[in-house]
Amino acid sequence: AKSLGRDRFCYFSEELQNVVDNRFAIERQLKRALDDHALEVFYQPKHNLITGALAGAEGLVRLRAEDGTIIPPDNFIPLAEETGLIHPLGEQVLDQCCAAASRWLKQGSPVKVGVNIAALQFSNSGFFDTVTRALKKYDLPAELLELEVTESALMHDFDETRNILQKLSDIGVSISLDDFGTGYSSLSYLRFFPLGVLKVDRSFVKDMLSDGQARSIVDAIIHLARSMHLELVAEGIETKAQLDALRDLGCQEGQGYYYSKPLPVAEFESRYVNMADA
Ligand code: C2E
Ligand code: CA
Ligand code: CA
Ligand code: CA
Repeated sequence: AKSLGRDRFCYFSEELQNVVDNRFAIERQLKRALDDHALEVFYQPKHNLITGALAGAEGLVRLRAEDGTIIPPDNFIPLAEETGLIHPLGEQVLDQCCAAASRWLKQGSPVKVGVNIAALQFSNSGFFDTVTRALKKYDLPAELLELEVTESALMHDFDETRNILQKLSDIGVSISLDDFGTGYSSLSYLRFFPLGVLKVDRSFVKDMLSDGQARSIVDAIIHLARSMHLELVAEGIETKAQLDALRDLGCQEGQGYYYSKPLPVAEFESRYVNMADA
C-alpha cells in the first residue's frame, strides 16, 4: 500500500510546480506584451451620481494570454513589481491613457483619465519627466490627467514622493488617493501630500447597506473630504440602492458595475465619446 506521507508529498510538490510554471508563463507573456507594446488598457467610466453624466474614466491594464484569454492585473502587477517590469509597464499604460484622452479631447469630448501608479514608479527619479513627456507627446492638458496612488505608494519615501507629487500638482495633474480607508495612517497623509481626490474603497461601498459601521465610515469620509475641499469618488457601485445611499450621504462621483464594467477602448469610445463625426 502507498504511504499517505508520500502521496501528500507528491500532491504538494505538484501544486508548487504548477505555481512556479504559472509564474514563469505569466512573466514570459508579460515580457512579450511589453516588447510588442501589446498591453491592453480597459476604461471604466466615472459618473456624476446626481446627473448620471460622465465625469471621467479610469484606465485599468489587461494582459492578453496566448490563448486569447485576459489575465487580470492582480495576477501580474505584483510580479511586475518584483521583477522591475513595472517601470516599462507603467510607462506604456501612461502613454496609452494619454493618447486616448488626447484623442477624445480632439473629438470634442474632454474626459479626464485616471492612471494607477505603483509605489515603485515613484522611486524612479525620472517619474516627473516621464509624465510631462507623455503629456507633451500627445498635447494633452495636464488637467485631463489624474494619477491614482495608494497609501503604500506614499509610504515609500515621504519627502521624495511629496516633491514629485507637488511638482505634478503644480502643473495641473490631479492626484487621487486610491482605496481610501483601507491603509494605515490615512489622515496624516491628507495634510502632507497635495491630494485632490479621495477614492472610497470598494469594501465600504459593498458593506454599507448591511453594516452600520461601514456606512458610518463612508459618511465620515464624505464629511472629511468636503471639509478638506477634496473631491470624492466611490468605487465598486454595483446596485441602485448603493448609488442612492451614496448620493444621499453627499457623495458626488462614483464608478462601478452598476454603470459599467471596465471596457475595451473601442467599446468605451462608442458608448461614451462622440467619435461619430470624426
Ligand atoms: P483599483 O485601482 O482599486 O481598481 C478597481 C478595481 O475594481 C478594478 O479591478 C475594477 O475592474 C474593479 N471594479 C470596478 N467596479 C467594480 C464593481 O462594481 N464591483 C467589483 N467587484 N469590482 C469592480 P482590476 O481592473 O482587476 O484591477 C485591480 C487592481 O489592479 C486595481 O485596483 C489596481 O490596483 C491594479 N491596477 C490596474 N491597472 C493598473 C495599472 O495600470 N498599473 C498599476 N500599477 N496597477 C494597476
Ligand atoms: Ca485605481
Ligand atoms: Ca481602488
Ligand atoms: Ca484596489
